[in-house]
Amino acid sequence: MGPDISSASPPRLIFRNLSRVPGLFHAVFTRRGGVSAPPFDSLNAAWDSGDLEEAVRENLSRIKSCAAVKRLVSSVQVHGDELNFIDEKALEKLKARFPILVGPPADALATKLSSVGLLIKTADCQSILLVDPDSRIIANIHSGWRGSIGNIVGKTVRSLERLGLNPARTLAAVSPSLGPCCAEFVNFKREIPEEFWPFRSGPVHFDFWALTRAQLAAAGIGEQNIECAARCTVCEKSEFFSYRGEGKTGRMASVIGWNQP
Ligand SMILES: [Zn+2]
Repeated sequence: MGPDISSASPPRLIFRNLSRVPGLFHAVFTRRGGVSAPPFDSLNAAWDSGDLEEAVRENLSRIKSCAAVKRLVSSVQVHGDELNFIDEKALEKLKARFPILVGPPADALATKLSSVGLLIKTADCQSILLVDPDSRIIANIHSGWRGSIGNIVGKTVRSLERLGLNPARTLAAVSPSLGPCCAEFVNFKREIPEEFWPFRSGPVHFDFWALTRAQLAAAGIGEQNIECAARCTVCEKSEFFSYRGEGKTGRMASVIGWNQP
């Protein structure tokens, strides 16, 4: 069984493994509890979806105050494999767009700074949250099918190892996202390299949850330390935003950060 949605406001998913880390805040917010009108109803976290500036600003303010982080950092997500590691120097280069800070194009965000929360926006793509409680490195990774076949999770873990992350101690969580039930790729022979075909869950369906688990495990993260929400955004459109399910829609927020003293 995956994690439940809490009754807190705004409603959010909390993972069992990450909940055991003292001082860590993490959440995958659902689509409920915000102010955006249809088709962005209601807790849309992304300006570039076509929603009103002030509605997204209010939604992000709710998310930020819930996370209680001093700075909430996002990036321009481009379905690539770049990592933006937010240290003091990188922090200076971020652009303020109230109430958050936005970095250059990158689909993986990580930091050691306790003042920085990391925000990834999704609608079917996975957000993968990582924490190493010893080095206190945290990461939030955006991975759609392009990220999956580019192994952004494996690349991010390897980069973070050089900065002090210990994969053997790292906990990982995978957000609600496109499930094996709905990940249909009729042109998979053209779009998806053959090495990934063993992850098919049907003649033209793929299990990207299983692939992410395998990639995290191959990067040295213990199977027992990986928790997958196993909730499909396409199947649960009333709880989550789904690009495949709805087309024009909002983006969910997933956040990880250290509680402020
Ligand atoms: Zn589904």
